[in-house]
Amino acid sequence: MSGKLNKPIMLRLSEEVVESVELAAKAEGLIIQDWIRKAIDYYLINMTNTCPKCRTYNSRDSRYCKKCGEKLTNIPQRMVKEIYDVLVNFTVRLRDYTNNRDIIKSNKEFDLVQIQKLIIHAENLIKTWSDVDMIFQISKEGILQSDIDSEVKKDLEHQTSIVDDINSKISDITMDLIEYKKIIDENQESQSKNNLDE
Ligand SMILES: [Zn+2]
Repeated sequence: MSGKLNKPIMLRLSEEVVESVELAAKAEGLIIQDWIRKAIDYYLINMTNTCPKCRTYNSRDSRYCKKCGEKLTNIPQRMVKEIYDVLVNFTVRLRDYTNNRDIIKSNKEFDLVQIQKLIIHAENLIKTWSDVDMIFQISKEGILQSDIDSEVKKDLEHQTSIVDDINSKISDITMDLIEYKKIIDENQESQSKNNLDE
């Protein structure tokens, strides 16, 4: 996939994206350039509209190969759909979290085991979300900069509103986590006090 020599290209990214990429690269012990290179290899290589029959590169909105006439899958469209599926899947997990949180909040007596389970669930959600969000932001940048049809870009607008919604929910979850950890701490404190009294 990648050639022997790396050819430099100049790429402008928003500050938020750069910040995310820096953190993600750090988590994998990579320099930012290597992380982006890896991300492009894995996630974005499918955005090129290559003919499955003769390997000709076509413009990304072409429906048929310009050389041999073979029908092409609309790759940006497929990409947008893939992003959408990931988002829907994530939304389901988020709903699952919210339902559990509501159950815990409606109970006066705190079930510590349940809270601990919810903390793990929340931490996993946050971790997965940062990956999903980053792939989304990079893909979005690519799709917006391309000249593909407005239908695809309209889908992207819809997805962006889902992403914004999830982002605000994730910041709520971060607040929840602080609250839950406080409950656990307070409980452990009172438990060790009880043990001393006995
Ligand atoms: Zn072809």
